[in-house]
Amino acid sequence: MKKTRREFFKNTALAGAGIAAGSLIPQADAATKRIKWDKEADVVVVGAGAVGLPAAIQARENGASVILLEAQKDVGGHAICSYGNVPLGGGTSAQKKHNIADSPDILFSDLTDWSVVVSNGFPTYRYNDKEVIRAFADNSAPTYEWLVAHGVVFVNKAPDNSGAMETGNSASREMHAAAMSWPRPDTGKPFPSAVGPITSHGIGLIRPLEVTARKSGVQILLEHKMTGLVRESPTSGRVLGLSVDNKGTKLNIRAKKAVIIATGGSTGNVNFRRIFDPRLTEEYNGVAGEPWSFQDASGELAAMAVGASLWGAYNQTGEFGSNITKTGYIGCQYGYRNLSWQPGSPVFHLARASGLGVGDWQNVILVNQAGLRFYDETVDQFGRNNHNAIKPYTPGSYLNPAKVKYDPRSMNFLNAALAGTGGSANGGGPIWAIFDADAVKREKWNPAPPNVDIEQGYFFTATTIAELASKIVMKYQPKGLPADALQNTVAKYNSFVDAGKDADFGKPSPKYKIQTAPFYAAWATPCVHDTRAGLRINGKCQVVDLNGQVIQGLYCGGESAGGFSEHGLARCTVQGRIAGKEAAAEKV
Ligand SMILES: Cc1cc2nc3c(=O)[nH]c(=O)nc-3n(C[C@H](O)[C@H](O)[C@H](O)COP(=O)(O)OP(=O)(O)OC[C@H]3O[C@@H](n4cnc5c(N)ncnc54)[C@H](O)[C@@H]3O)c2cc1C
Repeated sequence: MKKTRREFFKNTALAGAGIAAGSLIPQADAATKRIKWDKEADVVVVGAGAVGLPAAIQARENGASVILLEAQKDVGGHAICSYGNVPLGGGTSAQKKHNIADSPDILFSDLTDWSVVVSNGFPTYRYNDKEVIRAFADNSAPTYEWLVAHGVVFVNKAPDNSGAMETGNSASREMHAAAMSWPRPDTGKPFPSAVGPITSHGIGLIRPLEVTARKSGVQILLEHKMTGLVRESPTSGRVLGLSVDNKGTKLNIRAKKAVIIATGGSTGNVNFRRIFDPRLTEEYNGVAGEPWSFQDASGELAAMAVGASLWGAYNQTGEFGSNITKTGYIGCQYGYRNLSWQPGSPVFHLARASGLGVGDWQNVILVNQAGLRFYDETVDQFGRNNHNAIKPYTPGSYLNPAKVKYDPRSMNFLNAALAGTGGSANGGGPIWAIFDADAVKREKWNPAPPNVDIEQGYFFTATTIAELASKIVMKYQPKGLPADALQNTVAKYNSFVDAGKDADFGKPSPKYKIQTAPFYAAWATPCVHDTRAGLRINGKCQVVDLNGQVIQGLYCGGESAGGFSEHGLARCTVQGRIAGKEAAAEKV
């Protein structure tokens, strides 16, 4: 039966109202329950990062009018902070030029191989969604050529494995977007002119795409944050548009054909990320890529409020790659190992400090909130799988796991850090790097602002270890460290240095005593990074609901989408293009 206009708008208005967060309710005219649309376009893309820019350009080039919304003051998302390593394979012109054999079928086989595991035994591809991977494999090489045709310059060298994570065993696929002379988000300055063309960085991917998007007529609206989706009725019918907050002003934007969710994942949302890993409580606040942009799960929440399903949860909980990372910069909130915010950055006021880059983990001990060491400080993080990780590699062979050197010890630093100290609280609590004046000299650190964040409690100094322990008070460590425990830990560690052996955690030949004042404590809590599970999508990047039905008019890709365990930019750019093409092809 055909709905009357009044019934239609009545049903339309409050899709998502059952969700607790009020901000997810579409901004309808409360009196009449009618949506007043402030703007409209055929396709509305939410988020201007690695998915959103290709999606917007592709939709525009396929004839759609396009609005691209971005919550922040600038475009780029985590992609512009990234190192621009883009693992596109399946037979790219770059692979052909360097005689690297690859094809869509090889790529598909690699990324769905049940038999591949990393050195702690975790399988990296076993839980990928085959429909999603097939679409990626078929569109991977064309996306490389498309990026080149749309202004992205890749460093002129053979595809390799540098920076790659979970890109498959059969071929080298990692390409590198050249930074050229674009200013960096972390420093505010470009690389020196001699190195720009040979240095990989996300600016070399994002800025050319931004130029292309603007030229092609994509309307980019900065500081426009999507707060909810509008669907015909709460969990059925088409998605019609969305609600937006623009610096406190509420708008409704109509999407005549489709909305594309390109919001970049969920690892910055504590409640959401704990769906996948209950250990990841508030203290894991050093999300890689924040504070340039925030992975707040707003895309996932808005889509779930209109019935969308999550998908591929294992890819987020599995221990591989960089879902969680050891910190690299200590004494600041945002200590991700490959990103140090400098005072010239436009977001330095949010980051507050650059951190002290650790060159040698022999120079510090790491203690938990109880003042106790918990692992060998020199051990790194989870493994990854790439070309040549298994030699010889036979796709789908039961012998493949036997060729991986099982190394549980070196893979368990992060689990020990997240283990907690015996109480009923879920998270592991803060981790502190403790060191002395001699370590500062060896590392050539300047332990003062803007390198360290004293004001917000991420860095402390004292003349004795006991005094240092009592000073370590901040939001996530409300009571300070037990002084006795920290003194004992340091004394014991110094005895290990004398003995040349770490009897507790097997740190190879502990080198340096902690003995010369002043003493320091620097925040060294692990960082969260990749989102590899999110909304359920099909091969066309259409969002699928909890009944397995496509939600008409809603698409998603990249870190907000599920079913695909691979680090970063390749899956994002490919899925952006797929979503843009399919969305433009929808009937109005
Ligand atoms: C330091 C660093 C280095 C990296 N290096 C690499 C690398 O070398 N190779 C690689 O493959 N990957 C790398 N990555 C990962 C890669 O950058 C991400 O996987 C990729 O950028 C994700 O793309 P996306 O479009 O899903 O999200 P993003 O690129 O983060 O874009 C999402 C955008 O959506 C916006 N947004 C969010 N919510 C809303 C909302 N409600 N309304 C409007 N806008 C919203 C955000 O502000 C953001 O601009 C790196 C990441 C970091 C942080």
